[in-house]
Amino acid sequence: MSEQYSLQTKLLHNEHKVDQATGAVSVPIQHASTFHQFDFDTFGTYDYSRSGNPTRDALEAAIAELEGGNHGFAFASGMAAISTAFMLLSKGDHVVLTKDVYGGTFRLVTEVLTRLGIEHTFVDMTNLAEVAAAIRPNTRVLYMETPSNPTLNITDIRGVVSLAKEHECLTFLDNTFLTPALQRPLELGVDVVLHSATKFIGGHSDVVAGLAVTKNEELGKKLAFLQNSFGAILGVQDVWLVLRGLKTLHVRMEHGEKGAQQIAEWLQGVPEVKRVYYPGLKDHPGHELQKRQAEGFGAVLSFELENEEAVRRFVEHVKLPVFAVSLGAVESILSYPAKMSHAAMPKEEREARGIRDGLLRLSVGLEKPEELMADFKAAFAHVRGKVEHL
Ligand SMILES: *Cc1c(COP(=O)(O)O)cnc(C)c1O
Repeated sequence: MSEQYSLQTKLLHNEHKVDQATGAVSVPIQHASTFHQFDFDTFGTYDYSRSGNPTRDALEAAIAELEGGNHGFAFASGMAAISTAFMLLSKGDHVVLTKDVYGGTFRLVTEVLTRLGIEHTFVDMTNLAEVAAAIRPNTRVLYMETPSNPTLNITDIRGVVSLAKEHECLTFLDNTFLTPALQRPLELGVDVVLHSATKFIGGHSDVVAGLAVTKNEELGKKLAFLQNSFGAILGVQDVWLVLRGLKTLHVRMEHGEKGAQQIAEWLQGVPEVKRVYYPGLKDHPGHELQKRQAEGFGAVLSFELENEEAVRRFVEHVKLPVFAVSLGAVESILSYPAKMSHAAMPKEEREARGIRDGLLRLSVGLEKPEELMADFKAAFAHVRGKVEHL
């Protein structure tokens, strides 16, 4: 309905902005699991809430519109969305994935799909020749995650889509880091967009949720069938939290991104910091590509200190960010990939991906960036062991 508006406005003015029955300006939570059928021969739109629920419908319609698709699906977690999408595959199929895929996706592909006879190859997705070389006659899906976690590598989305079309494969893209506010993969030809709505879309560290969107009719029907068959739907209370978070998505992304850019540039000049990873930096290898395929660089950056001891001292002395897994919240979140997201990965594999013992990831929240930098500055003094000069 709101084709003519920007995403910023569409977040607030969509078909669910007022409840048609009462005029309520918040989507009502429909708890019913089942629905009375008024006519013996013709059933209504809803019969059972796993198959369809008006509250969930509102979120599914909203995310479909924001991503530029026509079928949206809400799941109990990002992993439920990703797992359900992989159920589009069958025994004997093969998937090509980026080697720095999210840890949960890595686990699903390597430990669950393999048992079901679905094969995989991990590649460096920044290298299209490597992607092309990994495609086999039974390859069905090219799976992207860009920017990647935690080293913020950028995949050429159009490049991978064109390889997929050439080889009649589908493309999936995990859009968690940028959200439709900054990157709309369906517009670049991607078939299925996936989200952990636990992160920026929910935005408040208070709900675990996942989303999937497509604009392909046939895939939409198949995903609806799988959502209903698998049953990993998002509950209505959590749907409401995601809908509420979504309203401020644009303003949160804008603020977080501005802070991330400022902090990344500042960190480049800090002597304790060996390396900064942020696609908004001009010397980031994916900077120009990112400008061509997205509307921004996001609110997540990573930086590397000398070693684990330096990280320990830094983490023990910062006061503002929470030290936790996850990202994309109103509060800044500092994570230590070596002991958190990538703890299960052998050290050599981890280091081959650039995830060394000195690497920290920062998801920039809504604090005043100057105050975050002042907090970090004080903590860096402890890393140096020169606190007395403060
Ligand atoms: C967190 C995350 C997931 C998994 O989502 P959950 O909601 O935790 O199941 C998938 N992909 C990325 C990029 C993530 O950050």
